[in-house]
Amino acid sequence: MKLVLFNARPYERAAFAAADAAHGHDLTYLDPRLTPATAPLAAGFPAVCVFVNDVLDAAVLAALAAGGTRLVALRCAGFNNLDLPAATAHGLTVCRVPAYSPHAVAEHAVALLLTLTRKTHKAYNRVREGNFALDGLTGFDLHGKTAGVVGTGAIGRVACRILAGFGCRVLAADPVPNPAAAAEYVPLDRLLADSDIVTLHCPLTPATRHLIDAAALARLKPGATLINTGRGALIDTPALVAALKAGRLGAVGLDVYEEEDGVFFADHSAEGLRDDQLARLLTFPNVLVTGHQAFLTREALAGIADTTLANVGRFERGEPCPNRLG
Ligand code: NAD
Repeated sequence: MKLVLFNARPYERAAFAAADAAHGHDLTYLDPRLTPATAPLAAGFPAVCVFVNDVLDAAVLAALAAGGTRLVALRCAGFNNLDLPAATAHGLTVCRVPAYSPHAVAEHAVALLLTLTRKTHKAYNRVREGNFALDGLTGFDLHGKTAGVVGTGAIGRVACRILAGFGCRVLAADPVPNPAAAAEYVPLDRLLADSDIVTLHCPLTPATRHLIDAAALARLKPGATLINTGRGALIDTPALVAALKAGRLGAVGLDVYEEEDGVFFADHSAEGLRDDQLARLLTFPNVLVTGHQAFLTREALAGIADTTLANVGRFERGEPCPNRLG
């Protein structure tokens, strides 16, 4: 099937080209993100493939449908950027990749955590300048600490297992507890109050938007470490900055940021940061930000490409697709 991939980065092109050997679609890769301005580029393609930072609002979906597109294949799990009722109204089928190496994301959360607890980001810079002094690099053992996992779906459950492996007591909060999770379920308020480490693995929905607001931040143990690889808007960023300024948090590791749209996934090094809030976050020595790269492992990319192309194949053959939305 003719499939156009918007916003196709080199590492994605390689993964899709390799996976397509088993699927045999006709792939076209485009650099630009899908936006109202670029939507006409999809004209004549029955299937369009997009990522988390592409725009899938009513106007874009209308433009896609007008150009002959029938399938929108999301090459990601989250779909908070999609207006699903508008897609349905325009007769567009939408599918996604609900799961792909949950280990990739959970391991990145732990990478952020260990970097912050052992200050390896600072040690790396010091040693490269010939500074082998240890002052200011004191960390803490994860063993014996309490870790709170918010959201115990595919990724959160892997995070629970990894943290339990470190010797943490693992607490979890999820409206749908999973008996298979290696964690003790408690209400969110108690998780926040009792945990030395809190890691967020729930989706962004109207109910979880600003789940970590000023009140939740105030409930955290003084000196707690907060990790977010879920979605940026799970945290109220001005409230987070205020808590950091007040010195109430031990460290914060973010792979996602509330206003990442238009900032992440691109090189802004020549022009500087225009987002004052993000710039402020980056001034704190105990904050580590990565640019939405938790999914970026070879295994996850191969899984994303294979599931996306299988979804397209099922649509082409008129078969039911378990990964269809709506
Ligand atoms: P999943 O659907 O398997 O699990 C999500 C879990 O969150 C479910 O168990 C659900 O019941 C729970 N949940 C819903 N509302 C909650 C709430 N208010 N409090 C606590 N838990 C709640 O999803 P997953 O595959 O584990 O992914 C989780 C999220 O991680 C995704 O929605 C996505 O936003 C994010 N993600 C980020 C990256 C990245 O690269 N940073 C990559 C993939 C996924």
